[in-house]
Amino acid sequence: MTEPDAGSDVRGMKCTARRDGDDWVVNGTKHFISGALHADFVIVFIATGEDMTDKGPKKRITCFLVDRGHPGFEILPGYESVSHRGYDNMILHFDDCRLPNSQVLGEVDGGFEVMNTWLYATRITVAAMSVGRARRIMDIALQYAVDRKQFGQQIGKFQGVSFKLADMVTEIDAADWLTLASAWRLDEGLEANREIASAKLYASEMLARVADEAIQIHGGMGLMNDLPLERFWRDARVERIWDGTSEIQRHIISRDMLRRLGG
Ligand SMILES: Cc1cc2nc3c(=O)[nH]c(=O)nc-3n(C[C@H](O)[C@H](O)[C@H](O)COP(=O)(O)OP(=O)(O)OC[C@H]3O[C@@H](n4cnc5c(N)ncnc54)[C@H](O)[C@@H]3O)c2cc1C
Repeated sequence: MTEPDAGSDVRGMKCTARRDGDDWVVNGTKHFISGALHADFVIVFIATGEDMTDKGPKKRITCFLVDRGHPGFEILPGYESVSHRGYDNMILHFDDCRLPNSQVLGEVDGGFEVMNTWLYATRITVAAMSVGRARRIMDIALQYAVDRKQFGQQIGKFQGVSFKLADMVTEIDAADWLTLASAWRLDEGLEANREIASAKLYASEMLARVADEAIQIHGGMGLMNDLPLERFWRDARVERIWDGTSEIQRHIISRDMLRRLGG
């Protein structure tokens, strides 16, 4: 989905596919594309037209499958990231890339429907991964609070540390239940847009707080790469950005509530 000039605003994409007989001719660039280094094919969302609405022009979007090595399609190296250092992100470049109509996934102009099904599942995955990592961080911090002694006693006996542990586990449990509840709604076929956004928002922000507090409990050792905490802390950062930033999740949540009352 993502392009250099179109991130949160997916419909602002400039990558276009123009009809030419039975084929489509694609031009444009995508960036931040996970896993493309290893992929045999990519799933790509491309503008296939524009409608005029009350709010101005609105792009129609179609989903395509494109094979690695297809003429006119290149997978180029992406950027180095502080989060997920072992995880590649790539640039996809299309230069008069000719695709037969049989490579459309779903319906022509129905890309948003495909995208939304996908984003529901990935947002729950972000929430679940955040909960899992936070539990591992919690275990490490709890053990350190027992093992580490200062002023002649376990640091976990200082209220300044023990209250952090209490807040951490409470937030982890809350995120866990939000995640399970939203996944249950999706499984049951119930409306789950707001609930999934709440789970993604809360769990990813919880993970950042828990990782940060765990480092505080470890003092200087928390920042050293002898322990896994600095990596958890770095990796936590991206969870509030990909699959829709925290701000976009807040937008989804508030819009869902306001719309129900005619807002
Ligand atoms: C490591 C990594 C891997 C990724 N993998 C993929 C991938 O495989 N496929 C893919 O398509 N994308 C991928 N992404 C892209 C990711 O989904 C986008 O980075 C994300 O959607 C945000 O877009 P942006 O970075 O362009 O930020 P922008 O959209 O430019 O946002 C910049 C800031 O403005 C805020 N903002 C924007 N609009 C609003 C608004 N309406 N209200 C309030 N605040 C707003 C944002 O919240 C953010 O704080 C990946 C990103 C990263 C970092």
